Amino acid sequence: MMTLTKEKIFVTKSFMPPLNEYMQYVEKIFNNVQLTNGGPLVKELENKLIDYLKINNIQYVTNGTIALQLALRALDIEEGEVITTPFTYVATTSAILWEKLKPVYVDIEPDNFTIDPNKIEEKITSKTRAIMPVHVFGYACNIEAIQKIADKYGLKVIYDAAHAFGSKYKGKSLVSFGDISTLSFHATKLFHTVEGGACIIKDEIVKKELDLLKRFGHNGDEHFCLGINGKQSEIHAAMGLSILPYMDEILEKRKRICVLYDELLENIVQLPKKQEGLEHNFAYYPVVFKSEEELLRVFEALKQEEIYPRRYFYPSLNKLSYIFDGESCPISEDISKRIACLPLHPTLNMETVEKICKIIFGSVNSVFHVQ
Ligand SMILES: *Cc1c(COP(=O)(O)O)cnc(C)c1O
Repeated sequence: MMTLTKEKIFVTKSFMPPLNEYMQYVEKIFNNVQLTNGGPLVKELENKLIDYLKINNIQYVTNGTIALQLALRALDIEEGEVITTPFTYVATTSAILWEKLKPVYVDIEPDNFTIDPNKIEEKITSKTRAIMPVHVFGYACNIEAIQKIADKYGLKVIYDAAHAFGSKYKGKSLVSFGDISTLSFHATKLFHTVEGGACIIKDEIVKKELDLLKRFGHNGDEHFCLGINGKQSEIHAAMGLSILPYMDEILEKRKRICVLYDELLENIVQLPKKQEGLEHNFAYYPVVFKSEEELLRVFEALKQEEIYPRRYFYPSLNKLSYIFDGESCPISEDISKRIACLPLHPTLNMETVEKICKIIFGSVNSVFHVQ
C-alpha cells in the first residue's frame, strides 16, 4: 500500500547549489589542504561579495552574532548603553548583552517595523555609546535621521543588516551604511554559507582592528590585543561561492512569489508599506493580522495542511525574561503579537502560494467580530 505523505512547507528552505558545483570547490580544498585561517576560497568569496554587493570591503566571519560582537569591540564600545530595537531576532540583543553592555530599547515604526528615529533622542544618556538599528526584513531604517542623531551626540552606528543582503537604498547597497554593517549568512538567510556572517566597515583603522580581533589579536608571534576566533573556513566559503552565481535568479523567483502574495492578500491582512528609494530583496514576507487570536486561527488552519509560517518576531525583546528593566515599547509589543512571516523560498510553487492565501482568506473571515 502506498502512503501519501504531504511535503511539509516551512517558512524557509535553504537554497542548495548543484552538488557538482559545490564539489568542484571542495576538490580544490582537498588538493591544497588549507582548511581555514584566511584561505584562498575565503578571499575569493570576499572579493566576489564586494563585487556583487558593490561595497568597498568585507570581512567574512563565523556568524552574524559574532559579527555584531566584533563590531562593538572594534569600535571600542566596552561599557555603557546601546540603543537598539526590540523588534528583531534575539541575536541583536544577545550580542549587546554578551559584551556586557546594556540594550536600551526604542520603539519601532508601525509601517515597516524599523526603529523610530523620533524616539531615539529621549533615550540618550551620558552612558550611551552606540545605536544598533536593524534593517528588519530587508526594509531600510531611516538612515539619514539616525546618522544625524549619531553625529550630534558622537555615537557610533552599527547596522544589523542580517536581512539586508541584496536590498538597495537610493541606489546603494543597504549593507553599506553606518560605521559598521553586519550580515548573517546562516542557512535560513537569503544568501547563506551554512553558517557565516560578515562586517562591512567604514573606517580603515577599524577595519584593521576588526581583522586582528577575529584572529586572536595576533600576527604571528606578535600579540597586540585580546582577540577571539571569528575566522571562517574554506568549506563554508565553498558553499557561498557555489550559491552566489544563483543570487539574481533566487531574488527574481522570490519577487514573483511576493508579487502573487501581494495580489492575493492585499485587503485581507496588513502588509508593510512600500518604501520610497528602496529596492527590496524579498528576504521575508511578513503579514500583520488584526489580532493575535486571528493569527493563531490562521496558523491552526495552515497546520492542518502541513504549512508552517513563523511568528517573526515574537516576543518583543524588551519583554524577555532576562531583560530586567525593559522599557515599554507599545508598538513593537502590539505588532509582535500579530505578525508572522509566510513561507517564502525560491522552490515554493505558485499553487502552494495560492493555497496558503486561500486558507488565510478562509480563516480570517471565519469569525466576525461585532464591536
Ligand atoms: C540571523 C540573525 C542574526 C544572527 O545571525 P547568525 O549568523 O545566526 O549568528 C542577527 N540578527 C538578525 C536580525 C538575524 O536575523
